[in-house]
Amino acid sequence: MEIIHLSAECYPVAKAGGLGDVVGALPKYQNQAGDIAKVVMPMYRTKFLYANEWTVDFKGQAQMGNWQFDYTIIKESQNKLGFDLYLVDINGLLDRQKIYGYDDDTERFTAFQIAVVDWLSHWEHRPDVVHCHDHHTALVPFLLQHCYAYRHLASIKTILTIHNGQYQGWMGWDKSVLIPSWDLWKRGLLDWAGTINPLAAGVRCAHKVTTVSPSYMAELKTNANGLEKLFEYEQGKCVGILNGIDNAVWDPATDGYLTHHFNRKTVQKGKLANKSSLCQEFGLDPNLPLLVFIGRLVGEKAADLLPEAFHQAIYRFPQKASYLVLGSGDTQVEWSLQQMGQLYPGQFSTVIGYNEGLSHRMYAGADFLLMPSRVEPCGLNQLYALRYGTLPIVRNTGGLRDTVIDLGDWEGYGIRFDQASVDDIVYSIGRALEAYADPTHFQWMRQHMMQIDHSWESTVESYRNVYLS
Ligand code: ADP
Repeated sequence: MEIIHLSAECYPVAKAGGLGDVVGALPKYQNQAGDIAKVVMPMYRTKFLYANEWTVDFKGQAQMGNWQFDYTIIKESQNKLGFDLYLVDINGLLDRQKIYGYDDDTERFTAFQIAVVDWLSHWEHRPDVVHCHDHHTALVPFLLQHCYAYRHLASIKTILTIHNGQYQGWMGWDKSVLIPSWDLWKRGLLDWAGTINPLAAGVRCAHKVTTVSPSYMAELKTNANGLEKLFEYEQGKCVGILNGIDNAVWDPATDGYLTHHFNRKTVQKGKLANKSSLCQEFGLDPNLPLLVFIGRLVGEKAADLLPEAFHQAIYRFPQKASYLVLGSGDTQVEWSLQQMGQLYPGQFSTVIGYNEGLSHRMYAGADFLLMPSRVEPCGLNQLYALRYGTLPIVRNTGGLRDTVIDLGDWEGYGIRFDQASVDDIVYSIGRALEAYADPTHFQWMRQHMMQIDHSWESTVESYRNVYLS
């Protein structure tokens, strides 16, 4: 089977969150399982672009509204990632450093999708599946099936995976001219609540829709940022498949970002060595349990609750734990967390920014990872934490619910709480510190969580079944 993944992110080319991790790993494991999986993404000006060799695969021209644009498809020459990687270059739109956050993101990702579909229309054969990821590529099923210029591609099977349903790519109807000509009576396929909603269009037009965990699939029917009724209506073609993790990248025994490697047998010593290095770097006490947060500092992750929750935890459990935060996002939250570093020197430290290497060292050195998320479609952080023997403290939602068992339950190895509230977070930190005080049980939990299999190998089969159904 030939599968073409379309995505705005793909690790290590460009990553802003879990989407990048998934698209950087799933195709590799699909190839290993015997299929032909390829990735197509925009050609941002990233380090990966300049550090690797490329060949020009195709040059074409397409139309977006009144604008005729040239695009170039280049291919990574050495198959470094374990799959064919194609980048789409469109001068003036995609030739930027960042992935998102520009005023013309609508034009950028619409042009990207038009270029991809136009390129596919020049192929001598048809791929079996076009697999779209999130709203940046969710117009593709509509383009393939309903735009006059591309209708000869309508038989290609399309899958849409929703990694985050909160973002839907809304655009006003004034932008409808960007979309290549189609029968106007089909406007209902694009429209939701008076605007063009690419994610909704993808859900309607794709042959199958998947989300990145079963619980998130169920939650979308009651909490989907306005699309609840759509998910209720389309549930017959929707299925939740839990993300895997790339065990080749995320392995504490070989992780290139770590100086102290460890496995299940050496976890205690190994984590202590990593914690000591980390604490030395950030001026924290290595003798205390270390609790970390890694992620986007946004409402979805309940990052706004962190400053108050950490204040209260430090007040309630004085000198009982150290705290380290890595993330960026809401400037008010960034500022409050940075202030805390100054208020509690030696106990609290904050790093604002995106730092892949530091995140690996934090998973390795921490005792606890906090994820109080309001919405968590799958969540990869807790899966990495489990693999690195770090006990996850999570809110009972989405993929967190599917992957973490509370230590009070049979064979549990984490802490779960129900409300995204300061009280629940502080109470859970208290439970974590109690658990830490019982070294035998704590060591058992570490060893137990490290052996849980969240590899892609098993997940690949579930996607294959969706492609074939
Ligand atoms: P998201 O909703 O952000 O996609 P996920 O849990 O699915 O959340 O994936 C988050 C991924 O991004 C993980 O690989 C995590 O380690 C990484 N990450 C998030 N923020 C940062 C950061 N500031 N620095 C380094 N890695 C980060």
